[in-house]
Amino acid sequence: MGQLSGPTDPTADAAWGDDERARKGFFTDTSICIGCKACEVACKEWNHNPRDGDLELTGMSYDNTVALGASTWRHVAFIEQDRDRITAARESGRALVDLGMPQVGSTDDAPTQPDTTPPDTPEFRWLMSSDVCKHCTHAGCLDVCPTGALFRTEFGTVVVQDDVCNGCGTCVAGCPFGVVERRADGTAAPTTRQGHRKGEQPPVPKRGVAQKCTLCYDRLVNDQTPACAQTCPTTSIKFGDHDDLVEKARARVSALHAEGMTEARLYGANPNDGVGGTGSVFLLLDDPEVYGLPPDPRVCTADLMTMYKRAGMAAAGMLAAAAISFLTGARR
Ligand code: SF4
Ligand code: SF4
Ligand code: SF4
Repeated sequence: MGQLSGPTDPTADAAWGDDERARKGFFTDTSICIGCKACEVACKEWNHNPRDGDLELTGMSYDNTVALGASTWRHVAFIEQDRDRITAARESGRALVDLGMPQVGSTDDAPTQPDTTPPDTPEFRWLMSSDVCKHCTHAGCLDVCPTGALFRTEFGTVVVQDDVCNGCGTCVAGCPFGVVERRADGTAAPTTRQGHRKGEQPPVPKRGVAQKCTLCYDRLVNDQTPACAQTCPTTSIKFGDHDDLVEKARARVSALHAEGMTEARLYGANPNDGVGGTGSVFLLLDDPEVYGLPPDPRVCTADLMTMYKRAGMAAAGMLAAAAISFLTGARR
């Protein structure tokens, strides 16, 4: 087992030997997502995932899948913002720039003398963001799985083995992003207003099994691009070597800052965060919470060694107390 927290290369930690490959990941640039949901559809189609829910309209803008889940491994969020919220996002981003986020002119790709005049703030905008499993450097789901159903691939990604998972759900509690979920049986058939199922529907596969994005492991081993990235018409989802993607992401933030879009910031690119950084890196245009992402995710095993030490000290203290009590009692 590799280290439990802090910066590390999970691919090397997994000890694949000669089969080890460069860590793969995603850079999802939400600033160019158009919300077409082609990624969601491509993922469903490639992985034969059943429909989620009963085709209800949620009333949450154009988002009717609502969240990642056992049958939705890519989810495109739609967030509606008015002028005040856009201004607030720009201000919170400016504060991050002051704290040392990628700076204007800090990379070769950024203009040397940029025009930092803020662009006109529109009355309204949609934030669209295609969310996915983060393929964490320190993956809580994998660390807590009692059966070894979750494993680290030679590409540094995290995959569930359906035939090993016993459906205990421990990984669900172990994921700080709420990504992995056990598949329920209520996702196949629409219902009438009286709650009756309509028509014949195919049975739901892999019921009770923990399910999430595999980063298209079956395609990676054949040198193919993941279905979602292959399909994205705007290149909002970029796939490649993790380190290259992080570099590209930093350059993109610098370029947006140079255009006055100070709200641009990265999520998952910091190897010193609570999960050691993520394999899926995102460029966001507002605080993570706005997109339903935890602002400070922390893997549940990060404090394991400290807990072991404290438990050991407590046990030693109890043994010492028992020994003293025994000895003093024996003298009476
Ligand atoms: S986001 Fe959750 S499910 Fe995905 S690798 Fe990290 S801990 Fe596991
Ligand atoms: S990498 Fe594959 S499994 Fe993961 S979201 Fe994209 S299409 Fe779905
Ligand atoms: S396919 Fe690309 S542009 Fe379309 S919703 Fe997904 S990430 Fe956005």
